[in-house]
Amino acid sequence: MPESFIDFFKEKCKHGELWLPYCPHCQKAFFYPRRQCPFCLAEGWQWKPASGRGRVYSYTIVRVSALDEFRGATPYVYALIDLEEGVRLASNVVDCPEEILRPDMPVKLAWVTREGRQLPVFVPRDGD
Ligand SMILES: [Zn+2]
Repeated sequence: MPESFIDFFKEKCKHGELWLPYCPHCQKAFFYPRRQCPFCLAEGWQWKPASGRGRVYSYTIVRVSALDEFRGATPYVYALIDLEEGVRLASNVVDCPEEILRPDMPVKLAWVTREGRQLPVFVPRDGD
């Protein structure tokens, strides 16, 4: 992945904005950024801000972490989120009681600051 893709994504995250690569040829969004659209192989995709709305595809609750940097954070929810744009992201669900957490649960984008970086996470939202 070219460095400029990462820089753009990180810069937007710093400002609390989640942007996705979007292909104007087939009108699909995708993630991660790559040179060609993974659906139609066109080059020349553009960045587009995400709606921030999605649903939990699947999740696990991490109660014990083997990684030093996450030991103090347990328990936490590691989840795959399907955004409205058709993109699946790995993220965390926060501010969500375990008893309401479920696959297909509506969520919306939120931000947390960890080690000085703004990171996209998701919180429950009212269904639609
Ligand atoms: Zn395409």
